[in-house]
Amino acid sequence: MSLELLQAAALNLKKAVPLMLKHKIPTTPVNYALWYTYVGEQNPELNQRLDTVIAQYNTCPPVSSELLYRQYVADPVELDVREMRQNLDAMVTERSQSLKDTNLDANEFQSRIESNFEKLNRIEDEGFSVEQVLDLVRSLVKESDNIRSSTEFFTGQLQKAQTEIDALKKKLEQTEKDVLYDALTGCFNRRAFDSDFAGMLAQAPLGTSLILADIDHFKVFNDTYGHQLGDQVLRAVAKRLQESCRDGAKLYRFGGEEFVIIVPKSQLRIARQLAEAMRRGLEKLSLKDRRKDERINNISASFGVAQWQEKQTGMQLIEAADKLLYDAKRLGRNRVLPISN
Ligand code: GH3
Ligand code: MG
Ligand code: MG
Repeated sequence: MSLELLQAAALNLKKAVPLMLKHKIPTTPVNYALWYTYVGEQNPELNQRLDTVIAQYNTCPPVSSELLYRQYVADPVELDVREMRQNLDAMVTERSQSLKDTNLDANEFQSRIESNFEKLNRIEDEGFSVEQVLDLVRSLVKESDNIRSSTEFFTGQLQKAQTEIDALKKKLEQTEKDVLYDALTGCFNRRAFDSDFAGMLAQAPLGTSLILADIDHFKVFNDTYGHQLGDQVLRAVAKRLQESCRDGAKLYRFGGEEFVIIVPKSQLRIARQLAEAMRRGLEKLSLKDRRKDERINNISASFGVAQWQEKQTGMQLIEAADKLLYDAKRLGRNRVLPISN
């Protein structure tokens, strides 16, 4: 890439990222490409349509992003998404170019000084006047002033660019985290689940089980001890469930007080045993409520476990686990279903 292209790419990225943050657009490759094209203003029709979507939803729903991407970005422009990922590097390159410029200035200064000194050396031989000598000295002072302010300018620019790059990197990292993690419990969120689940179904669904867990009578904690204690229970439950995860089992907050665990390639019996271990782990939880100075020991959850069946869709697998979870609730809660297999 030429320097100009790099600079343009960096500039577009600098514009695109804050916009994506503002509109809560997940940082997927498709969205990067879409917003990169948007700020590049190469296609007024795309910008108009994206503006309309944003005005309507306050964000750009994934379905619209995908559609706009296919229609305006993917095909005619064929943007290399990896290239955009490299744009942060582009900014670093831009920065090191500035450094080289400073060096060039310094070299030029050096050669001008040398030529001035040469003239000074000739003073004696050629009988320069005092006025001429003063001129030379003045010119030397001026040159050194120039180089000083130029270096200061570039150093300032460099620091500014570096600060911007650091802030941008932080924002990107934070956004990537926000996109996949649940803010309250710190475990993976529904979005991460949807993406992992779809990937699993597409690649290796055979033997995969789902465990759906729902805290029992959670509403009572909120009603009795307040929402904050409710949040504390959620965090403690998530932590305990996470501690029980092993052999590649992955925990996600599915919504409200529900969690889902993807158990890769194993027998249903193994997934059931894992759920049972989780259930027992939660039973032993004990939290202290500071406001009422009481201990809360009656935390439990119900579990539904289902294994992927040939030709089953993701939705059907979730529904199968959910139905068993519902049965577990109906039968009195704090249990794992199916009982055996
Ligand atoms: P069941 O045993 O049938 O599951 O009863 P439940 O009370 O757990 O279920 P219900 O669906 O009636 O209530 C769930 C409650 O969870 C309602 C909602 O206010 C609360 N909730 C959802 N998300 C949060 C959260 O992030 N923090 C807190 N404190 N409460 C939440
Ligand atoms: Mg629930
Ligand atoms: Mg519940």
